[in-house]
Amino acid sequence: IKNIGVLTSGGDAPGMNAAIRAVVRAAIYYDLEVTGILRGYEGLVHGDFIEMNRKSVANIIQRGGTILKTARSETFKTAEGREMGYQQLKKHHIDALIVIGGDGTFTGANLFTNEFDFPIVGLPGTIDNDLQGTDFTIGYDTAINTVVNAVDKIRDTAESHDRLFIVEVMGRDSGLIALRSGIGVGAEAILIPEANMGVEGLIQRLENGRKDKASKIVIVAEGDEVGGAFNVGEALKQKFPNYDIRVSVLGHIQRGGKPSCMDRVLASRFGVAAVEGVLAGQSGVMVGQVNRELIFTPFDHAIKHIDAQQVSPAWLKLVEILSL
Ligand code: ATP
Repeated sequence: IKNIGVLTSGGDAPGMNAAIRAVVRAAIYYDLEVTGILRGYEGLVHGDFIEMNRKSVANIIQRGGTILKTARSETFKTAEGREMGYQQLKKHHIDALIVIGGDGTFTGANLFTNEFDFPIVGLPGTIDNDLQGTDFTIGYDTAINTVVNAVDKIRDTAESHDRLFIVEVMGRDSGLIALRSGIGVGAEAILIPEANMGVEGLIQRLENGRKDKASKIVIVAEGDEVGGAFNVGEALKQKFPNYDIRVSVLGHIQRGGKPSCMDRVLASRFGVAAVEGVLAGQSGVMVGQVNRELIFTPFDHAIKHIDAQQVSPAWLKLVEILSL
């Protein structure tokens, strides 16, 4: 292997730049060339490649987003699209790929590596933390801290006005952002797709809770079956007409910002491990960290959804106990 390609794909996540930097530096350390592929699989299909060197990754470890840009590529989902991508790699003499992204990215990578017997190692880069084979994904720590910082501010105003705030956080299929950040802000209730508390369950929780508490915070994952914070707000307004209820959707601020030190270190470790993995003959696998150890997990296992461990009944009980 002489030349490794690197790309970021799917939703961006803080720490992707730290991961790119680590891949480039490790490649140079091991005397490899490294090619940056712009806009994920879309750039791969169209041959949007740039040569990377030591300098191209200077001063980016602290920056959010991704200098390689990211995109969602419909073309890559077709067999013809992937064939185009393969031809581009051959043309540019790229021998292996490192892809940084989430479950969609690995689904595509898995197809590609099987179809063309082309070596690919993945790095978990997603704020959702919804992959198997790693305790944490790059970007999750920063995202939950962003949520906590925002909701702490909402708590100040909620407390001053005796308001109930329903705060919607990201997580279409996964409530892991809602769960951790909700515990971190001392939320009165947390609604996540994995738990199905529903509006009735929420009303019960609020009725059982402390009546003398001035402010209340309810965290809702966008993918929860209640259908978003505004729906919850409407239902609660009908039930508690005398309570001042407000809704706040945090939105894309959750993707941006400087990566936390945890995310920078995780990304740095994964980036180096991915290059070393490629050199050791690894392919079709994602780098992860479980109980502090680095491990490689096959793509098709990494993308299996729902980690029962992370949303076990024990976590839900914890939320209930703390919301008294
Ligand atoms: P995040 O979960 O953080 O948004 P992701 O990697 O899951 O990240 P997606 O948009 O789902 O983001 O996937 C990224 C890209 O991977 C898609 O735009 C597409 O090009 C490719 N991809 C996704 N699913 C498939 C599939 N079934 N077959 C081939 N390629 C796919």
